[in-house]
Amino acid sequence: MLYRLRGAGYQAHLVGGGVRDLLLGREPKDFDIATDARPEQVKAVFRNCRLIGRRFRLAHVHFGREIIEVATFRSMQDLEAGGERAFDNGMLLRDNVYGTIEEDALRRDFTVNALYYNIDDFSVIDYAGGLKDLSEGVLRLLGDPEIRFREDPVRMLRAVRFAAKLGFRLHPSCEALLGPSAALLESVPAARLFDEVLKLFMGGTAVQAFEKLRHYNLFAQLFPGTDEALAHEEHDFPVTFVVKGLHNTDLRIREGKPVTPAFLFAVLLWEPVRKLAEEAVAAGEPPSLAMQTAASEVLSRQIQCTSVPKRFSLPMREIWQLQHRFDTRVGKRVKRLLAHPRFRAAYDFLLLRAEAGEADPDSARWWSEIQDADAEAQSDLLQREGGNSGRRRRRRRRRSSAPERSEG
Ligand code: ATP
Ligand code: MG
Repeated sequence: MLYRLRGAGYQAHLVGGGVRDLLLGREPKDFDIATDARPEQVKAVFRNCRLIGRRFRLAHVHFGREIIEVATFRSMQDLEAGGERAFDNGMLLRDNVYGTIEEDALRRDFTVNALYYNIDDFSVIDYAGGLKDLSEGVLRLLGDPEIRFREDPVRMLRAVRFAAKLGFRLHPSCEALLGPSAALLESVPAARLFDEVLKLFMGGTAVQAFEKLRHYNLFAQLFPGTDEALAHEEHDFPVTFVVKGLHNTDLRIREGKPVTPAFLFAVLLWEPVRKLAEEAVAAGEPPSLAMQTAASEVLSRQIQCTSVPKRFSLPMREIWQLQHRFDTRVGKRVKRLLAHPRFRAAYDFLLLRAEAGEADPDSARWWSEIQDADAEAQSDLLQREGGNSGRRRRRRRRRSSAPERSEG
């Protein structure tokens, strides 16, 4: 890949997270290549190449399922005439001003992300002091942090993400600005914040990321409803619930198991949804309707911060909607719930709630038993439930029209 571009007479270097992670002895997530070839020239070298991007134009070279990103060296210089660099209120909208490799290094975010791997002599090119910061475990922004955060507020989230992922310290000049500059995130498109949230919470260090985001007041910019609910909590299970959920996600990623944004967002937004629904139920609304209304309200507020694509919000709603149905443990309804396509996710969600002390652990245990049980054991469990088991006073058969009590 690098050699192909070199062969065509261009410079080509490995850059960014790939170099950083290799030098740290970690497995890089992906590789980025920087070159002096223009996007069209890159396209001419590789047949399997597509040009993408509005903010900056990039070449994506496809190798089977892998995509390698090839970016042309860019400069930070603000060209007056004919320049393609555009700002809005200090925020960078486009930067397609091509430059030299040195200029390319300086427009990157952190010094440790501005290292280039030179295939000619297998050396690392370091224009910004990235090697020193890498060995000291420091995340330092290039340039004036205030300007760099204003240009692109997502760099604040990137700072938190790399600190969480690499276990690095934030340089004081960067750290000092995080809280005070948090509100800059309001101007970032909701879709980009959604992507960034996934990177923060689906990279295997979600718990650390969550704690840092809260610490620097950035979490409130991303999930204001949740942040408020967590601030006003009376017991500590809501925070416990979120942390347990994120910890679960981290474990699954480490074990190579799939994680879905739907479950993640269901966890992150549960506390405001639960509270709203609880209030409505207390006011006499049936649980199912209460949950539906609460979900709609919380989601419609959330998408003003981060988008939540429909393909995720629909399963989220189902996970939430199924929660109160775990309270009813009689005959046909149990069978119907077990057969529900979203049962597994909803059950995992119930387990988390129980672990955090919010849902009845007996109930969680009962659902664990019944789903693994054979037909005979199942009817035993159902009978136990329908019978006069004294331990479950609250679980007596109820008229279906009676409002259900929520678990506390
Ligand atoms: P990851 O391990 O998540 O891929 P990465 O450092 O490679 O980390 P990318 O988002 O893949 O991050 O970006 C590749 C490189 O592009 C970064 O290392 C950095 O040099 C540069 N870069 C990315 N986003 C920005 C930004 N918002 N501002 C400045 N430079 C950026
Ligand atoms: Mg990368």
